[in-house]
Amino acid sequence: MYENSHSTKTFNEMQIGWKFDNSYSRLSDIMLTKLSPVPVKIPKLIILNQNLCSEIGLDFSKLDDEKIAEIFAGNILPSGSEPIAQAYAGHQFGHFTMLGDGRAIVIGEHVTPNKKRYDIQFKGSGITPYSRGGDGRAALGPMLREYIISEAMNSLNIPTTRSLAVVSTGENVIRETPLEGAILTRIASSHLRVGTFQYVAMRGDLKILESLVKYSINRHFPELIDDKNIGLSFLEIVIKKQIELINHWMRVGFIHGVMNTDNMTISGETIDYGPCAFMDTYKPETVFSSIDQNGRYSYVNQPAIAHWNLVRFAETLLPLINKKQSEAVKMAEEILNKFPTMYKLSWLEMMKKKLGLFGSFDEDEKLIKDLLEWMEKNKADFTNTFYSLMTKEYLKNKDKLFIAWQLRWKKRLEKNNKPIKDSLDLMKVNNPSIIPRNHKVEEILDSACNKNDLEPLNNLLKVFKKIYSSDANISQYQSPPKEVNHFYQTFCGT
Ligand code: AMP
Ligand code: MG
Repeated sequence: MYENSHSTKTFNEMQIGWKFDNSYSRLSDIMLTKLSPVPVKIPKLIILNQNLCSEIGLDFSKLDDEKIAEIFAGNILPSGSEPIAQAYAGHQFGHFTMLGDGRAIVIGEHVTPNKKRYDIQFKGSGITPYSRGGDGRAALGPMLREYIISEAMNSLNIPTTRSLAVVSTGENVIRETPLEGAILTRIASSHLRVGTFQYVAMRGDLKILESLVKYSINRHFPELIDDKNIGLSFLEIVIKKQIELINHWMRVGFIHGVMNTDNMTISGETIDYGPCAFMDTYKPETVFSSIDQNGRYSYVNQPAIAHWNLVRFAETLLPLINKKQSEAVKMAEEILNKFPTMYKLSWLEMMKKKLGLFGSFDEDEKLIKDLLEWMEKNKADFTNTFYSLMTKEYLKNKDKLFIAWQLRWKKRLEKNNKPIKDSLDLMKVNNPSIIPRNHKVEEILDSACNKNDLEPLNNLLKVFKKIYSSDANISQYQSPPKEVNHFYQTFCGT
C-alpha cells in the first residue's frame, strides 16, 4: 500500500509493477542523505510517458490522473522506495565545488521485468541539504524542455536519461518572474557521475573509494570486475563510453551546454538537459548557455572538454591504479593520452557514415572537412544539409564549390564497391530528418505553459517516431528559424 501523509486513501500498488531494490542506499552514509520529497499543494499530471512505462514494466492505467499526479509529485511514496539525495562534487566551468542533489530526489531503483535497473528520480522536489540557498524547485517550461529533448535523444538512438512524467505543483517558483512549478520524473541507468568520484576522492577515504568503484563496475560493467587493475579498466571503459557519446552529439549537432564534471555520467548517458540545444546553422563555435562567455562548452569544444573531464575522473582513481602515485599517474596518462587519437578515429567513422562511405581511403578526412568548411562559409543548416544528400534535394544547389565537392563525393562512393542503396541505408540511420529545433520547442513550450495547450507538444513527441524517416508530414519541423538566431541562449538555474 502507498504511504500517504495527506489522505487516508490507499490502493493496491501491486497493479503498478514497482519493484524496488535500492543498492545505492546501501553505500556509505557519506554518499547520500535520506529524506522525503517536500509535498506540493495541488499536483496535476501534465504528461505521462506511456511507452516508457510499458518498457520498464509499470502500468498506471488503473489509476486516475489525480492519483498519478500525487505519485509523481512525491506526495505519496510507493512502498519499497527509499528517497535520498545523492552527494557529489564537481568542476563547474572549471571551478571545483561541493554540490549534490539540490533539487532532486532519487526515490529508489526500479528493477524491470527483464532485470534492468533504473534510478527513479524526481527533479524539482524541494530543498535538500545540498540546495546551497536554492529553492529546490523547478519550473514547468524547463522540465517539459528536458522531457522533449531527452525523448528526442532517445529516438535518435543516443544514450540518455529518459523522462517518465511531468506534474505541475500548483505552486509558483520565483525566477526572473513567478513561474508555474513542476516536477520531472527522470529515469537513468544510474546517477553516478564524474563528480560522484570527485566527492569521494576529496574525502580521502580509500575504502569508500574502492567500494564505490566496485559498486559502479558491478552496476554498469560487470564484465570488468575480475580484471587485474580495476581502476585502470574502469577508466578505460568510461573513456570509451564518453567518446561514443560525444560523437553521437556531434553527429546530430547537439550542444549540451553545461559539460561540468557533475553532468558527466559513468554510464555514458546524456544527463541534465539545461541550457542545451541542437544547432541549426553549422557554426562550430555555437554556444547555448548564457553564462558560457568563453565558449568553453561550444559545439566544437565538446570533445576537448570531455577529455578534460576525464582527466579529472582519472585523478580520482589514482590511488586504485597504483599505490605509488608517480606510477599511477604514468599509467593513467598513457590511457588518457590516447583520447585525441581514439576520438578522431571514432569521429571519422561517424562522419563517414553520415556520407554513406564504406572502407577507408586517404582522401576521406579531407572530403569530410571540405564539406564542413563549405557548410560553415555558406551558413548551411547542419541537419538539412546531410538530409539533402539522401533525398537528392542537394542537386538543386548550384554553388560551384558545392558542385565540385559533390563530384568528389560521388567518385568516393564508387570506391565503396557496394550498391548505392547500401550507402543510403547507412546514411538514413545516421542523419536525422528532424531535430527539436529551438524555435519550434519554444513555440511548443509557450503553448503548454502559457496557453494550456499540450497538443503541439504531443504532436512533436509523435513525430520523434519518424526522426529518421522522410515522411511527408514532417516538413513543418524541418524549417530552420526564419532569422537564424545565433544568440539563442537558454539559461542555467532553470
Ligand atoms: P545543474 O546546473 O542542473 O547541473 O545543477 C548544478 C547544481 O545546482 C546541482 O547540485 C543542483 O542540484 C543544484 N541546483 C540547481 N537548481 C537548483 C535549485 N533550484 N535549488 C537547489 N539546487 C539547485
Ligand atoms: Mg547537474
